[in-house]
Amino acid sequence: EITPIRVEGTGAGGPAFFLLLFRDRTVERRLERMRSDFVANASHELRTPLASLIGFIETLQGPARGDEAARERFLGIMREQARRMSRLIDDLLSLSRIEMKRHVAPSARIDLRDVFEDVRGEMELMAEENGLEIRFERPEEPFIVLGEEDELIQVFNNLVENACKYAGGGGRIDLELSAVTEGGRRFVDAGVRDHGAGIAPEHVPRLTERFYRVDVASSRSKRGTGLGLSIVRNLLLHHRARLIITSELGRGSVFRARFPIADTADEVKSSQQ
Ligand code: ADP
Repeated sequence: EITPIRVEGTGAGGPAFFLLLFRDRTVERRLERMRSDFVANASHELRTPLASLIGFIETLQGPARGDEAARERFLGIMREQARRMSRLIDDLLSLSRIEMKRHVAPSARIDLRDVFEDVRGEMELMAEENGLEIRFERPEEPFIVLGEEDELIQVFNNLVENACKYAGGGGRIDLELSAVTEGGRRFVDAGVRDHGAGIAPEHVPRLTERFYRVDVASSRSKRGTGLGLSIVRNLLLHHRARLIITSELGRGSVFRARFPIADTADEVKSSQQ
């Protein structure tokens, strides 16, 4: 969508002129729509548990008053709904915090081998509870990126958590580091591989959209908010990194973060100054 903008003026003592500029508003419009979709989705996601809470409160004050067994059961459901709202709000705040930081690239030199060791330690219990083992073979050489340690741990914790929740079996989760060259430039890939159910190809490109879930009921029952991968994507953008998802139904998925390696990132930074 192209809109013309007319600029008029007079040169100093010279003839009058006007300039016709064109502005393409397609991108702006799309961003506006995305923002309003997001607000609508977020409101809907919050309203659902809230409506259920109100319903239960009214039932407890009315028809179920004095019914001890119903009271216990309803309070249990109400607690779960309130927790759900709390998780959603945490995730929404997390997203907006990251978006605010987006333009300031992190600058600490972080060895991804250490990040993976931390993630394995933090997620071991959850994996075990799901019958999975987290494997990481620490390479000899360091894998350095410019980053923020907490954010990187959050990215990979989240990916390992998804592998535990959705991959369903497969025995193990592999944490993999490798150096790759793309378009003549060098990158570091840090991947989380599961050997579980996999994801149908039509869903893959949409996974990082806010609130997108392959199976809403399963995500809800597993305490998902539909914001996890969108947070991961934004944290990675903050690191000038990309999320690459490959998956095969019945064989499993790999969620890879592709980082510019630290000296390339340094070059990018100094060329922008
Ligand atoms: P949620 O809060 O629902 O976990 P995410 O953004 O983290 O949201 O993930 C979006 C959806 O992607 C999930 O609901 C799930 O259907 C699917 N998904 C994510 N990771 C995996 C995986 N490792 N294997 C299969 N499906 C996955």
